[in-house]
Amino acid sequence: MQALRDRVNRSLEEARAAKEIGKSLEAKVTISANGEEYDFITAQTDLDKLFIVSAVEVSKNEALGAGLEDIEVGISRAEGIKCPRCWTFSAAAGSDPEHPELCPRCTAVVKNA
Ligand SMILES: [Zn+2]
Repeated sequence: MQALRDRVNRSLEEARAAKEIGKSLEAKVTISANGEEYDFITAQTDLDKLFIVSAVEVSKNEALGAGLEDIEVGISRAEGIKCPRCWTFSAAAGSDPEHPELCPRCTAVVKNA
């Protein structure tokens, strides 16, 4: 897990250095993997929290090798608006009319409080 986080952090640093993103929460991470590595990554929960980004998408690419060094990590700007409660970007923000500015995760937390 640490190795995966290091791998993603390296890509985040590169994107930040290239001014593609500012804070890591502005980023969406796209991971392509195969074999055991894909199974390992998709078995994890809360990857977005682990990487401190707004979204993580994992897809299978059978052309890749099955090791951690074979995965491909893409960084792009997260879509949506910034939730004022957790600073995460969410394309689904505003789905609840009572909390139009909050992301779905925060809306659930606020409603259950
Ligand atoms: Zn939120």
